[in-house]
Amino acid sequence: MQLFTCPFCGPRAEGEFHFGGDAGNLRPEGEVTAEAWTDYLYFRHNRRGPAREIWMHLPCREVFVMERYTLTHEVTATEALLPEARA
Ligand SMILES: [Zn+2]
Repeated sequence: MQLFTCPFCGPRAEGEFHFGGDAGNLRPEGEVTAEAWTDYLYFRHNRRGPAREIWMHLPCREVFVMERYTLTHEVTATEALLPEARA
């Protein structure tokens, strides 16, 4: 079992987390082509090495960014997506 660190609750079992996608995959705006929508909705980078991803910790329902190294599954950092929401 791997532990992920929720920025609000601390280390927890990976089963408590839900993957939300690549960080920085921004919704296209304005007049959008079908190709741009397809890219936004269906294609993922699936990078080999360092990656920034959006995750949700299901018990506290908070969404955050996790930086991890996909070759080793090492989590290098987690940070609140909207830190001002917890202030
Ligand atoms: Zn949490």
